[in-house]
Amino acid sequence: MFIELVDALRCPVPHEESWLVAAAARIEHRHIVQGTLGCPVCSAEYPIADGVVDFRRGADHQAASVTGAHAEPALRLAAMLNLTDAQGFAVLLGRWGSWAEKLSAIVETPFILVDPPAGVIGAPGISVLRTDGDIPLASGAARAMAIDEVSVARADSAVRATRTRGRVVAPSTLALPEGVRELARDDVLWVAEREPAPSALITLHVRRGVIS
Ligand SMILES: [Zn+2]
Repeated sequence: MFIELVDALRCPVPHEESWLVAAAARIEHRHIVQGTLGCPVCSAEYPIADGVVDFRRGADHQAASVTGAHAEPALRLAAMLNLTDAQGFAVLLGRWGSWAEKLSAIVETPFILVDPPAGVIGAPGISVLRTDGDIPLASGAARAMAIDEVSVARADSAVRATRTRGRVVAPSTLALPEGVRELARDDVLWVAEREPAPSALITLHVRRGVIS
């Protein structure tokens, strides 16, 4: 499976159209030889073996699960964050930091963990920041952002740190912040895309009744 064609694939389960993410165990010449494709909407997983993607979901094909009960949560999170390559870095806020190790095992994207649970430490591909609350990242620096249950202010700051069209994932209890467009939602999470930042507006000051 040519890695650049994964973008064109869609989950065959009847639900809203959704991209799939590849977790590649072996890549040769930009072809995924062994791995898995995961659906962020229904959590189905489709195995890739010997370069062949198996989308079959019949009773005799137990490798693909559409129940969600057996789906790998880390793969689903990787899918929602669209971590399809090693470009840039993804940010995991708060409790999401617990997922970094599992995510690192299935995707090449480096991670920055902001205030992860106590005990979470850095590792190759995993950088850890401890803060007083403000997110110390440049605007648009992150390719993707997983927001914990946090204040609206922190969510806004997290969105600001996410690049245009970067994915933002958050608990469904958090109201959608300004600057993102919702892509999908379930009982637990929503996934959204960072919208282009509006260009600075030039305000025209019309001063009435003033003779100058
Ligand atoms: Zn699906």
